[in-house]
Amino acid sequence: MQYEPLWNKSLPRNVGFTFELKQGQLVRITSQTIIDFVCFNQHNLRERFDQARTKANQRKVFITTGDSLISKLNNTMVTIVEDTFKDGHHDLQEGMCSRKRHELAAARGMWEITYGRPLTEMPTHGCTENLSNVLAPFGVPLEDIPSPFNIFQDMIIRPDGELVHSHVRPAAPGGFILLRAEMDLLVAISVCPDSSIGGTTGASLEVLQAA
Ligand SMILES: [Zn+2]
Repeated sequence: MQYEPLWNKSLPRNVGFTFELKQGQLVRITSQTIIDFVCFNQHNLRERFDQARTKANQRKVFITTGDSLISKLNNTMVTIVEDTFKDGHHDLQEGMCSRKRHELAAARGMWEITYGRPLTEMPTHGCTENLSNVLAPFGVPLEDIPSPFNIFQDMIIRPDGELVHSHVRPAAPGGFILLRAEMDLLVAISVCPDSSIGGTTGASLEVLQAA
């Protein structure tokens, strides 16, 4: 399939961004850090991506090329057209990082162990704040933002059910995932501060359409 570019954008770490993606358009997201990805039916912002339907309808907890993102109303929102994250599993279990999440981890004495960095390097904000800030102008409050598709956040599920994040990330110079909109979408992403690996670059977006 040949694609022609419509626009592109570079994003630093720890910011949010929204854009519309019309049915049939694609976005290639290139990054070495985690991308928290949510989407909404552009014509009914109350219809939104749903982690549970995405997993249950496809009978799997890890999704990759050929799989879909599904809404709470059981409609297909996105198809994964290409996925280079061969060494990891994108996370479909967890929510978004936030200052409060970091502070809770610190209170349990877990922050430095989890992130391998001193407490002084705790981010001032995270994906929760990023997504809520960029979705507020659309009338979507934090309480209505679904738990995201956490692209490039490698998730391991142990046989006893324990959830573990590895530090596996896309190989340099940046892996990518190519997503096709199956309905007109409002998309919001956060480029995660991803403290566990520090010093990474941000992300880039290329919006494409079939040539
Ligand atoms: Zn995050």
